[in-house]
Amino acid sequence: MRASPGRGPDGLRAVFASRNPHKLEQVRLLLPGVELVPIDDVAPGTPLPEEHDSFEANALSKARAACAATGMTAIADDSGLEVAALGGAPGVVSALYAGEGASDAQNNARLVSELRALEGEPDLSCTYRCVAVLVTPDGRELVAHGRLDGHVVLEGRGTQGFGYDPHVVPVGETRTMGEIPLEEKIRFNHRARAFGELARLIRTRL
Ligand code: IMP
Repeated sequence: MRASPGRGPDGLRAVFASRNPHKLEQVRLLLPGVELVPIDDVAPGTPLPEEHDSFEANALSKARAACAATGMTAIADDSGLEVAALGGAPGVVSALYAGEGASDAQNNARLVSELRALEGEPDLSCTYRCVAVLVTPDGRELVAHGRLDGHVVLEGRGTQGFGYDPHVVPVGETRTMGEIPLEEKIRFNHRARAFGELARLIRTRL
């Protein structure tokens, strides 16, 4: 379906190329007029490859795979955390930092142990990145980037959110992302910025 310029992307139906329920929850709030269908509801088990070394290439690869498997317009995001003291790690391998199938707790434990192992005073500044993409069956592709800067705390706090949230304090905040409620963080996080821009591109370019 086509969104008209000047309108919201309302009326668009798209397959969502992710199996992360937290992402789906956030993106549904960020694109309220779009009907997002989880990939496993329409093409269960479709591989969603993310083997590239950039967020953009990985997001496009997942969306293209979902589009090809379903014949539907596909939306995906690829995201992760970059930590200065770790030379930008975990970066594109954020979900697998502690190994294939690692839990959030295992990834966070590795993050903390890598930082504790550094000599001196490590630079704990960090950036969450998100690239949101839309791919249509006739080959059009929209790409939008979002970032959120902050710093890492070694003692995690808060149970809201997922992934590295208990260890990330955004610039201008004292709370970790794990202590900030979902409704609040989707006003300013990296995913909100990327999907806000993607919504604008859908309205103006699709
Ligand atoms: P992927 O985009 O599915 O490859 O994985 C992104 C990974 O980055 C997640 O599994 C988390 O570890 C991390 N991540 C990305 N966005 C967020 C976020 O909003 N909060 C916490 N962790 C995130």
